[in-house]
Amino acid sequence: MIHQLSEELINKIAAGEVIERPSSVVKELVENALDAKATQITIDVENAGQDLIKISDNGMGMTEVDARKAILRHTTSKLHTADDLFSISTLGFRGEALASIAAVSQLRIVTKQKDVVEGFSLLVEGGRVTDSGVTATNSGTMIEVKNLFFNTPARKKFLKTNQVELRHIINVVTHYALINPHVSIKLVHNNNTLINSPSVTDLRDNIASLYGVEMAKDMLKIDFQNEFFRITGYVCKPYQVRNDKTQQAVFVNKRWVRNEDVMRGVYDAYHSLLFVNKHPVVVLHITTDPTMIDVNVHPNKLEIKFEQKEMVRKAVFEAVRQAFEENHLIPEVDVEFQQTVIAPVEKKEKKPIQESKYVFEPAAQMVFEKPQIPLADVKEKSEEKSSPVTHQKPVQVDATDKFPAMKLLGQVHKTFFIAETEGGAYFIDQHAVHERVLYEQFMEQMNSQVEVQHLLQGELLEFTLQEVSLIMEYSELIEQFGFTLESFGDNSFIIKTVPTLFGRLQPKELIYEVLSHLEKGRKTTDDIQETIITRMACRAAVMAGDTLTVNEMENYLSELSQRNLPYTCPHGRPTMFKVSVDELEKKFRRKGLRPE
Ligand code: ADP
Ligand code: MG
Repeated sequence: MIHQLSEELINKIAAGEVIERPSSVVKELVENALDAKATQITIDVENAGQDLIKISDNGMGMTEVDARKAILRHTTSKLHTADDLFSISTLGFRGEALASIAAVSQLRIVTKQKDVVEGFSLLVEGGRVTDSGVTATNSGTMIEVKNLFFNTPARKKFLKTNQVELRHIINVVTHYALINPHVSIKLVHNNNTLINSPSVTDLRDNIASLYGVEMAKDMLKIDFQNEFFRITGYVCKPYQVRNDKTQQAVFVNKRWVRNEDVMRGVYDAYHSLLFVNKHPVVVLHITTDPTMIDVNVHPNKLEIKFEQKEMVRKAVFEAVRQAFEENHLIPEVDVEFQQTVIAPVEKKEKKPIQESKYVFEPAAQMVFEKPQIPLADVKEKSEEKSSPVTHQKPVQVDATDKFPAMKLLGQVHKTFFIAETEGGAYFIDQHAVHERVLYEQFMEQMNSQVEVQHLLQGELLEFTLQEVSLIMEYSELIEQFGFTLESFGDNSFIIKTVPTLFGRLQPKELIYEVLSHLEKGRKTTDDIQETIITRMACRAAVMAGDTLTVNEMENYLSELSQRNLPYTCPHGRPTMFKVSVDELEKKFRRKGLRPE
C-alpha cells in the first residue's frame, strides 16, 4: 500500500545526500557562517567530528523566529524566486543543510543578532525540538552537533578511520580559509589547534599559513581578466610539482568547487613543463557573472557547470600561461625587437640588426674565448659533426615570436652559456637546452617517422627473460622509437638501428634505458612514451662539464629558439634566466643615487 513518508523520514533520507560524513557538516556550517558575514569562525571538533562539531561565528545571527525556521527543510533566507537560482551569490541557497544535520544528530543553535539584548537557544534531537529558550550570549551564532549519525547506524558504519575523517575536515577548513583571507578561521581538534589562519589582506600570506612559507614564497601570481572572467590566485613553478592533487584548490565566486574544465586549462598550460604523473599546486579564484554558471548540480554544491566550458578552459589556460611568461618560464615576446641573431661575428653585416630598435654595441670588448678542446675529445667531436644536432648550418637566426634575440658571449664552467639580450643578459644551462631541443625534435619525428642510424655491424645484446618479454610486449613502441632488434636465438638480439637524434649515447645504453622504463611503466602508453623520450633526451644531451665549440653552442641556441617551449627542459626546470641591466645596476648600486 502506498503511503506518505513522515517528515522525519524524508529528512533522514535527504540528509544522506548532503551530509555524508563529519566534514560535510563542517562544510555546510562554515558556509553558513560565511554567508552570515562572519569575520571570525572557530571550529571545535572532537573525535574527528563523530562526537562533537561546534562552530562559532561572529556573523549577523538569527531571530528566534528564523532560528526555528532554519531547521526545517527548504527554509532559507537566501533564495526567493526561481530566477534567483540563476544568479546565486551566497554559498547556501537550498535550505537543506540545517534540516539535514538536525535529522541525524543532536543539534543546538545559540544565536543573537547584534542589536538585540538576549540570545536564543534551540535544541533539536533527530529532527525534533526538545528544548528552547532565551539565553545570554555574544552576537553571532554557535552551532553544536553532537553524536552525528546516532540514528542512522548504516551511515555511521561507512565512516573511515578517525585519521581519514579528520583529513577530510582539515581539507574543508583549509579550502575555506584559503579563499577567505579576510576571515580568521581556526580549527581545533581534541583541544589541539590544527589550523589558525589569521585575517590577512593577501592570499599569498594565507597560502603561507596553510601550505608553508617556502611554497608560498615561490608561487607565481595569477591576475587575469577578460570579458567574462577574472582569474586570480597562485600557481607553483613547474618544478615545484607534487605527486598528488591535494594541493589544488579551485574557487568560483568564492565557492570551493571541483571542475574539470578549469583543471584542463591548468594542465594544458603546464603541458610538457610537467613530469609525468606530477601535479601542480594551484589556488585559483574565478570570478564571473553568476548567470554564467550553474551551481545547482548536486546537493553538496561542490560541482558546478559553466555555460561555456571551452571559454573557461581557455581563460584559465591564458591566465596561467601569462604568469609563466611574466616570470620568464616561457618566452617573453618583444615585437619591436624581432630580428637580431645568435650572433657569429662574421655574419654581422646582415642588415636587420641595423633596422631594429635596439642595436648591439660592437662586440670588440666581448672577447670570445674559444674553448680549448682536449686532444682526447677531438676524435669524438669530429664524429659528432655528422649528427644532426651539431650540423653546420649558418647560425644567423632571427628571434622567433617566442624567443628573444640574443648574442652569445661565452661559456662559464663548461656548464652555462652567457648571452646578451635587450636590456640584460641570459644565463643558459647547456644541458637543459640540449635536452629541450632533443625532446621536441624527437617528438616531432615520432609524429611522422623517426630518423634512424644504421649500425654497421649491429650490436649483439643479451637480455634477461623479463626484458625479452618486455621487448615482445612493446615491440611496436620500440620500433616506433627507431630501434630495430633482430632476434638472435635464446635471449639475444642484434640492434640494427637506433634513433639518430640520440646518437651520442651507446646503443646498448639507449635500449636499456627504454626497457627500464617499460618495466616501471604499466601506465598509459602516452605516459610511458613521454617518460622514455624525456629520459633518452636527458641521457643523450650534452652534460655540464662537456666541452663545446663556439659553433656547437650557437647551434644549440639557434635550435632552441625554434622550439615550442624553449624556456624549460622537459622535466620543467628552466633552461635560462635573465638578469636585467636594471638588476645589475641595483647590484652595483648605480640606481637610486642622487646626482652629484
Ligand atoms: P541555506 O544555507 O541553503 O540557506 P541552511 O539550512 O544551511 O540553508 O540554513 C538555513 C538558514 O538558516 C539560512 O538561510 C540562514 O538564514 C540561517 N542560518 C544558518 N546558519 C546561520 C549562521 N551561522 N548565521 C546566521 N544565519 C544562519
Ligand atoms: Mg547553508
